[in-house]
This record gives sequence, C-alpha cells and structure tokens, in this order.
Amino acid sequence: MTSTTTQIISPTWIAPVIPDGALLLDHSLVIEGSRITALLPQTEALARFPDAPNLKLEGHLVTPGFVNSHGHAAMTLLRGIADDREMMDWLTNWIWPIEGELVSEQFVYDGTRLAAMEMIMGGTTCAADTYFFPEAASRALTQMNFRAQVGMPVLQFANAWARNEEDHIHKGLAFRDSIKNSSLVTTAFAPHSPYNVSDSGFNKIQLYSEQLDLAVHLHLHETATEATDSLRNIGVRPIERMNKLGILSPSLQAVHMTQLRDDEIELLAVYGVQVAHCPESNMKLASGFCPVEKLRARNINVAIGTDGAASNNDLDMIQEVRSASLLSKATTGDATSLDAQTCLEMMTINGARFLGLEDQIGSLEPGKLADITAIDLSHPSFQPIYNPISQLVYTASARDVSNVWIGGKRVMDNRQLPEVDAESILAATRQWQKKILAVSNKQP
Ligand SMILES: [Zn+2]
Repeated sequence: MTSTTTQIISPTWIAPVIPDGALLLDHSLVIEGSRITALLPQTEALARFPDAPNLKLEGHLVTPGFVNSHGHAAMTLLRGIADDREMMDWLTNWIWPIEGELVSEQFVYDGTRLAAMEMIMGGTTCAADTYFFPEAASRALTQMNFRAQVGMPVLQFANAWARNEEDHIHKGLAFRDSIKNSSLVTTAFAPHSPYNVSDSGFNKIQLYSEQLDLAVHLHLHETATEATDSLRNIGVRPIERMNKLGILSPSLQAVHMTQLRDDEIELLAVYGVQVAHCPESNMKLASGFCPVEKLRARNINVAIGTDGAASNNDLDMIQEVRSASLLSKATTGDATSLDAQTCLEMMTINGARFLGLEDQIGSLEPGKLADITAIDLSHPSFQPIYNPISQLVYTASARDVSNVWIGGKRVMDNRQLPEVDAESILAATRQWQKKILAVSNKQP
C-alpha cells in the first residue's frame, strides 16, 4: 500500500556513499515522510509504488546532502569587505571592529538567512554554525528547514550578545534548553579559540560538555602565529594546553589544524579528535595547510568546511572539496591523494560523523533522513561522462545543483526555493551592505 507521503526520485545515477564506492545506474530512491525507505531499480520502484509521484531526473547524479562542517553563517554579510589581508590584521583591524559596531540579533538573522539560501542552492543540507546570537541563527535556519549544529559561542571579550565567559556559557545553556525539542537544530560548545578563552573557561566547558554530552567545536592551530605565541607566552602549544585541560576527546571538533607536528597528530589519534578542514579559508588567509593524508593515515576523521564567507568567499562545498583534493595532491606530491570518492565521503558521511549525526544523515540508506542533493550533469561541460563522481568533484560547482531535499521536504525545486522569500533576504542584505560599508570606511 502506498502512503500519501511516499515520493520517488529516479535519477540516472545514485552515489549512496555507503556501501563504499557504490554507484547505482537507473535506480530510484523511495522516500516516505522524512526518511528514505528503499533504493530499488527504477522498474521495480514504479511497480511497487505505482501511485507515488516519481521525479525523473535524466542526466542527474543524486548524492547525500552535503555537510558543511564549519562556518559562520551570518558572516556572509561581510563577504568581500576586507580581502587580501593577513589573518590577524583581517580579524583584529576589520572583522572584529565591524562586528563590534553592527552585530545584533537582526544582523545574525538576516545574514544567516542569506547563508542558508546560498547553502541550499549549493546542495548543502546541514552545517555547523558558530556565531553570536545563536537563537537568531537557529530561528533563521529552522524557518528555512535547514539542518544545523548551532554552536554556543564562548569568548573572553564582551560583545553585543554576552559580557564575559561566564555570561556566554549561561546564555549558551539557555539556548540549548530552547532547542532541545528541535528536529533540525542541535548544539555544541563553541569556544572561539585557545587565545580567546581562559583556562577556567575551558574547565567549565569541559565539565558541562561531559555532563550534558555536548561536543566542543573549536578553531585550533589555525595559524603558525597562534602556535608560536602560545609557546612563547605559556610554554606549550595550544594542542598541549588543550590536552592538559582535558579537552582532547572524540567530542572535540577541531577546526583548521594547519600547524601539526607528528607528535601532535599522534595525540589527536589517541584521543579520537575529529578535524574540520577548511582549505580555501586557510589558503586565502595564508594560514597553512592541514596535513589531511597524515591524519587519515592515523584514522582521524576529516570533514570539509567552508568557514565563513568573509574568508572564502563562498559557501560552495563542491568547489571546497575540489580545493581540498588539489591542495593535498600539490602539497604531498601524490596525484592519488584525496581521490573523487574520498572527496564525496569527506563532504557527506565524514561531516555527519563529525557532528555525531552519522546514524541519521551522510549516506543514502533505508532508515536515514532524506537529506538529498541532485546535480545536473547534462550540460556540455560535463560530457562525456565516464565517472559522474569525478565530474561532481572536478568539474561541477554549486550552480549545477538542481534539486535539494531536507528531511524529505523539497527545499529546492529546479533551482527555485518554493518556501523562501528570496527578494526579502536580498533586500535586507542591501540594507546591511550600506551600514557595513559606512563602518568599514572608518578603518585604517
Ligand atoms: Zn571559522
């Protein structure tokens, strides 16, 4: 019997990610409500579910929705405002002063809506977000039916959202209570970085994260300066400090990790730390390279993140993973490094694992949530097609994504977002552009 909520998607190719390396030709995905219930040959699916709507996608590849493992959604409003600057100059002389004057609940809500629109249109269905006013980000993402881990930010300095570390933690825990029944939003502690959170702040985070089973999402070893300053000031590099504070564990989502000695990689492996690799942000800010192959060789989970649009400057996960692959090949001298299938895993199941959601998303398997991305490979620039996963990783971009489902709901239909008022998002963006430009003109 067919339920009224059953729908069928029948593309030319399905790359389910699990089982490893599988590529199904002329198969259908069967979705009931929010979940995938079957993957069948198309003829069998149509025979078993004759009344269900069947979306035929000739020349399309269907994959799990992409998982962006690190970003700051509201910072899309700062895209391109201070390019071509050294990281600490960029952060301390541009980003922080502009944020200091303008960040508000409305800024975060509007910027997050712009980011969610861009991510959905690029095939991303889930993201780890960390910024001020997490309740505003969560509201924007939920309204757009977008899945996310919205972090509880912790910083030493006062800002529009919180006064000090204690206040951040207090407000973060209240935010956690407010989303505990959400089917889309989860949370984690998001201490900004070792240089912005005190030992006592980390002690409290460690205590609460253990008690409440919360992950810790942290920029760590992003730049050489971060590591050398720490060594000079307190006698140890940040990873060693995190080790002493009990922060290293499978719950640690370590972001960037461009500066790693072999003994530090060993520590990460022993504690089961997970890593978010953000190659374009690292290259743009000249921060260094995350040694992805060395981490993978020690079975450390590596996911892919775009970071905020202010240091990228886009949220395109396809181009991000291509950059990861090319960067790895270039820095290791090994052309076999991060092949197309590995890239697809990094942007899907590895991201799901990174967020503790691997039982729910990250692959197209019966029982999992129907978070699905379709990429149109019919354009001449994709022809001929010997391997559609190679075409996805090495040829496509966000603009080739045609349809997207989150929890079985079609959030993009042939490049249109049926339930999003795109014009109001763009109008709000234009207003912020004027305000941000006025503030940035005051910078040196
Ligand atoms: Zn970041």
